Amino acid sequence: MGKLTGTLVGLIALSASLVHGRVLEDLEQLDSAKQSYDFVIVGGGIGGSTVASRLSANPRFNVLLIEAGPTNDGVTDIAVPAFFGRINSTYSWGHVTTPQIGLNNRSLPYNQARVLGGSSSHNGMNEKLVPPPGGRNASGQYDPRFHAIKNAEQSEEIKFNLDVNSGKPSGLVWVQSTIGNGERCSAAVGVLGGQVKERPNLTILLNTQATRVLPSKKSRQLEIRTVEIVSISSGKKTTVTAKKELIVSAGAFGTPHLLLNSGIGDRKELEDVKVKSIHHLPDVGKGLSDHFGFQLSLSANGVVRPVDTVAALAEWQTNRTGPLTEALGHQLMFARIPPDAPLFKEHRDPAAGANSPHIEIIPFSLGTQVLAYVGLLTPKSRGTVKIASNNPLDKPLIDLGYLTHPFDLLAFKEGARIAKRWYEGPPYEGYITGFLGPDPDTLPEKEFDDALKAGAATWWHPVGTASISPKGAKHGVLDPELKVKGVKGLRVVDASAIPYVPTAHTQAAVYVLAERASDLIKASW
Ligand SMILES: Cc1cc2nc3c(=O)[nH]c(=O)nc-3n(C[C@H](O)[C@H](O)[C@H](O)COP(=O)(O)OP(=O)(O)OC[C@H]3O[C@@H](n4cnc5c(N)ncnc54)[C@H](O)[C@@H]3O)c2cc1C
Repeated sequence: MGKLTGTLVGLIALSASLVHGRVLEDLEQLDSAKQSYDFVIVGGGIGGSTVASRLSANPRFNVLLIEAGPTNDGVTDIAVPAFFGRINSTYSWGHVTTPQIGLNNRSLPYNQARVLGGSSSHNGMNEKLVPPPGGRNASGQYDPRFHAIKNAEQSEEIKFNLDVNSGKPSGLVWVQSTIGNGERCSAAVGVLGGQVKERPNLTILLNTQATRVLPSKKSRQLEIRTVEIVSISSGKKTTVTAKKELIVSAGAFGTPHLLLNSGIGDRKELEDVKVKSIHHLPDVGKGLSDHFGFQLSLSANGVVRPVDTVAALAEWQTNRTGPLTEALGHQLMFARIPPDAPLFKEHRDPAAGANSPHIEIIPFSLGTQVLAYVGLLTPKSRGTVKIASNNPLDKPLIDLGYLTHPFDLLAFKEGARIAKRWYEGPPYEGYITGFLGPDPDTLPEKEFDDALKAGAATWWHPVGTASISPKGAKHGVLDPELKVKGVKGLRVVDASAIPYVPTAHTQAAVYVLAERASDLIKASW
């Protein structure tokens, strides 16, 4: 009898491990009536994948991770670092912004990933340290790396900084990237990879979009643990309810989109689009803060040695080595606008402190031209994410608000001047042969502003659309533990929770936030 009981227990345990611990390609494969999950997580990007990984490390918790996009597995355009920017519409939401008032009414395409790993599956991968590949001279006769380091030795403004993640990011720094063994290390690889996907208590449901979060009918206090989901391929709809918590990690656009479609937002604005308000929380979708930049050109005396992409791909496929193992070049510059710059007479300095840079410069050498992408790390312009209708499958209205604050126009001029001063350094003599502009010191102000408005482009670091706020504060969407204010059972863990864009590329900040959130969630259960 004892043996039989043991066998039965064994069989039950085996069947449990068959129904959990799977990557499901479609909602048809999810038997939600028979399954119960302690935690349901919407969005398999950096926030969602990290929380799914950390919570499922505890075998007591059954975790369901729902991702609208497909798997990243086996997609060469994702795995090859140099193919950054190449992934196609299968893996992207294909967002286009509303006409931007600050950019002379241009609408910008805004590439946000729709794939396991989220935007870490197609971003520029700045962060983790890898040694620069074997002294390879990427640009032919001249290697700008050596000019840059020599220049930093002599520059008062941008000094060489060995480690951008030392807490003092300003200076000329080596690019640090989330690349491992020559391949992109996205959240799908880094935190969900290896044995994690094999865990019997983790189910990953792909190609399935969350359309609404739904209140529990029984409770007196507003309680939300149920999510309505729809299969991207068949349109089949169902709901899943978490026993403990529902966690929304759909990113800075996806999270406010989902909350607004569920009736959580500004009551009046929801009524305008015929969505029934279930919770008046006016700041949902407000306060969007993002990095953006524009391009300066210089003429240069270099030669480009073209990469044979067929041979390079063959090398990458065989050995995971060669020119395709890097995405954004070798160096970046982070600088502060001088404290005596006239813009600070009119505007308060938005930087967090004396160690926070205002400007980032990304240099690219094209042989006879050098491009310097100047980005503003401390923008005062703010945007919004709204909904246009009560159809949750309609795209969100994304208004980035770029260049709507006068500080930003002035700050970009200072950024262009910092870049100019940098390339005037003696080590560039004979290599940089002219400044092609746009030049804030020779162009009339309106012409420079027009060039900026015509050229400004996103750097893809949106945050702030479901912002955390201090305990008891009337503003904001989340309390300090990332719970949606006034709601039981619902948290947000992604970039939307960060109130103001950090003076760094955002993925490390989102990983940190998600690790902290995982600890908070584990501590509550
Ligand atoms: C093109 C690009 C380049 C970037 N470059 C860099 C860089 O070089 N360095 C850096 O540090 N950062 C970079 N970033 C930013 C960084 O990738 C993001 O800050 C980070 O990925 C945000 O994490 P997240 O979890 O908030 O959202 P994401 O990683 O975007 O994940 C959100 C996930 O939720 C899913 N989702 C959304 N709505 C739903 C729904 N309704 N139902 C189900 N699933 C849903 C999405 O498909 C997505 O997988 C870049 C971003 C982009 C887009």
